[in-house]
Amino acid sequence: MPLVTTRQLLDEAAKGGYGVGAFNVNDMEQIQAIMEAAKETNSPVIIQASRGARKFAQDNYLYHLMLAAAELYPEIPLAMHLDHGNSFETCESAIKLGFTSVMMDGSLKPDGKTPATFEENVEVTRKVVDYAHERGISVEGEIGVLGGIEDGHGAGGSGLDHVTDPDQAVEFAELTGVDSLAIAIGTSHGAYKFTKKPDGSVLKMDLLIAIHKRLPNTHLVMHGSSSVPKDLQDIINQYGGKLKETWGVPVEEIQVGIKNGVRKINVDTDNRLAITGAIRKVFAESPEKFDPRDYLTPARAAMQKVVAQRMTQFGQAGHAGDYTAISIADMAQGYASGALVTKPLVAAK
Ligand SMILES: [Zn+2]
Repeated sequence: MPLVTTRQLLDEAAKGGYGVGAFNVNDMEQIQAIMEAAKETNSPVIIQASRGARKFAQDNYLYHLMLAAAELYPEIPLAMHLDHGNSFETCESAIKLGFTSVMMDGSLKPDGKTPATFEENVEVTRKVVDYAHERGISVEGEIGVLGGIEDGHGAGGSGLDHVTDPDQAVEFAELTGVDSLAIAIGTSHGAYKFTKKPDGSVLKMDLLIAIHKRLPNTHLVMHGSSSVPKDLQDIINQYGGKLKETWGVPVEEIQVGIKNGVRKINVDTDNRLAITGAIRKVFAESPEKFDPRDYLTPARAAMQKVVAQRMTQFGQAGHAGDYTAISIADMAQGYASGALVTKPLVAAK
């Protein structure tokens, strides 16, 4: 199947009442792990690359690896998404390269650190939406500011510093016409999200539910949604690692989110943990080995296992064959004719 847009994937997920994991990649092995997991579970899939990933791998390598994935797995709907674009130019360059979906994170200024004003966020996001939709490409916006820092991107601090205000979420969705909306409900990027198992005081699921009530048809996105399972932390520490004790977002909470409008769930840390644990194990148990395949093969398998688990837990498993790809040109036509609605349905308070 050719690369599809996240708009199509998420519209289908909404129809089916499930969520779709969006997994970050930097290299070939991670893409292979995700595609094998998608094949194993018969899942549609979103692969995303951050600015850090584009810098690490270089755009052309990344793009051609994605094309290889689409070619090798014609039965899997696959979207290629830019994670946390920091400016119009970053989104524009991703679209020119061939990404089928971009996130314009206007919640921060272009430095990727300083919270932006609501007006600044609306302005830059609207500009990206106009440019992207004309070309059939999907846009994710963010309202509220996530906690933590990942790949040098983020405001830092606690996830509770700038949680999303439901009224602002409505206004933002109306003013920008985004295809999906990332909200801040207390989660943070990176491994160190919570210092104990999160409860309602730090993970604001009630806020998510309130936003969904006001915007019942808007595809919501949960960032910083790795679960940071203890068994993956333990493998790393058992083989010489020094991770401090930490908690992520429990899968049960994500499933509550999925029942309340969450259609895209970003997962990166869990895969990083799985890869690092598998590599450490080989290094510790077989220090005589030096062929990269001896540790990259189990690393890839460990990531595949985590991704397949998430695909099943999010409900996307089994849905790869539900639909055929809408071409990018037809998506552009859909936006131009108004067939692809960008005005959100807003429910009264
Ligand atoms: Zn994020």
